[in-house]
Amino acid sequence: MRTFAEISINRWFMSQRKVRVRFAPSPTGPLHIGGVRTALYNYLFAKKYDGEFLLRIEDTDSQRFVPGAEEYIVETFNWLGISFDEGPHLGGKYAPYRQSERKDIYKKYVDELCEKRLAYLAFDTPEQLAAKRVEIANFQYDASTRMSMTNSLTCSPEEIKKYIDDGIPYVVRIKIEPDEDVVVNDLIRGKVVINSSVLDDKVLYKSADGLPTYHLANIVDDHLMEISHVIRGEEWLPSAPLHVLLYRYLNWNAPQFAHLPLLLKPEGNGKLSKRDGDRLGFPVFPLEWKDPKTGEISSGYRETGYLPEAVVNFLALLGWNPGNDQEIMNMNELTELFSIEKCSKSGAKFDYKKGEWFNHQYIQLKPDEEIAKMFLLILEENSISSSLDNVIKIVGLVKERVNFVKELWGQSSFFFVAPVTYDEKTVSKRWKPESAIQLTELGDVLAKMDDFSAHSTEEIVKSWIEEKQYHLGNIMNVFRLALVGESKGPHIFDITEILGKKEVLDRLKKAIETLK
Ligand code: GLU
Repeated sequence: MRTFAEISINRWFMSQRKVRVRFAPSPTGPLHIGGVRTALYNYLFAKKYDGEFLLRIEDTDSQRFVPGAEEYIVETFNWLGISFDEGPHLGGKYAPYRQSERKDIYKKYVDELCEKRLAYLAFDTPEQLAAKRVEIANFQYDASTRMSMTNSLTCSPEEIKKYIDDGIPYVVRIKIEPDEDVVVNDLIRGKVVINSSVLDDKVLYKSADGLPTYHLANIVDDHLMEISHVIRGEEWLPSAPLHVLLYRYLNWNAPQFAHLPLLLKPEGNGKLSKRDGDRLGFPVFPLEWKDPKTGEISSGYRETGYLPEAVVNFLALLGWNPGNDQEIMNMNELTELFSIEKCSKSGAKFDYKKGEWFNHQYIQLKPDEEIAKMFLLILEENSISSSLDNVIKIVGLVKERVNFVKELWGQSSFFFVAPVTYDEKTVSKRWKPESAIQLTELGDVLAKMDDFSAHSTEEIVKSWIEEKQYHLGNIMNVFRLALVGESKGPHIFDITEILGKKEVLDRLKKAIETLK
């Protein structure tokens, strides 16, 4: 059986309108990781259907505007490889893409709604509204209360004119008729029916700053920018019935809606919050963010060492899956496989450990050279200089042990710095009375070798051990202790090949002197 979403999407294509989607953040601080997922799904949807994807900055609430937030958004998507076709940083046919620059556009529709008597002016002061809230429990500005308030429905035209002439600030509210079922056709949730009586007469416009509120600006722009599908977070579902009514009031076709599942806490119930990240030690923002007011720094995926490909892959699977258990998918594969129909209704647990797992997988998938170039920067920070070729080899040996590039240092520092101390536990377990003599003999064997490749060293050392009838394990353990300083590290003869003959002999000598 075909789902509602499949039928709707098919019908959409038969209508031959172009797919146009948008990401419409409000620049009120750093973008939450959930917002990044919303943008990613929009991007994948646009790519899949050969559509267009735009960035629109919803900055009509000047109170909540935070400087730097828009730049942060643009930088985030550059980093992740999610590109827009239009936006404030790119321009486009529907410019401007910042709502604060579209002020004049909205007023016309506010006036139209007022003229049609589908909206009205309200002059209630904050004090009057507060008094009403005390007077009436669960007060809501709606059909049941509006006739007892100060607005253009209750005042005479002369009074209204006087208020306006006197410069009394007002708001414009939508007039919602009670007791009507409003239907939101959602591609993920199916038919969502809300009775209009639960809705309030939301503010659409404030004369004080001449700006529309989110609701009006959002639908006017979606209409004017010819948005075909509104794909956004579940937190906007409660606004959707109001939006459906606004489209109807303005005689416009509503876009197709799809409300994505919430991102849930890694453990327990409820929405993922910054506090979860702080408590469990993972970022909830794509990039590091410094609060311009408090100076407080919040960690970001990029600075923590996540690869952008891993973040994209991880986020793609939070609320969607391709219908089989394939997990590793690059952007092209995601584009091909993504479908709104397969998004889930129920919230997606934010399993940050899975994010680390993805990073591990992408480190393994990337060519050693690429990882080595990143690692070289970390080596520089540790005042180590080494050739790229050498680092490529080392990366190849140890990368399977790390989730992050920066962890390579802990796994491989002994390649660059000879041990100065020897792990006590390992020494007491591995160092035998005969070890000094055996390592001296081993040094003599190695000193005679010309070909120091892993293969040939292994062959010669093993035949020497056999000949001497030494215990293989004992020799190998102290050999490793001498080279690494402890019992960790990759295959011992891979280590010797990279260190080279001189370094191996020096380390043997030093260990014998120190430990004998
Ligand atoms: N400005 C809203 C936000 O910050 C946009 C919601 C929507 O996509 O309609 O998420």
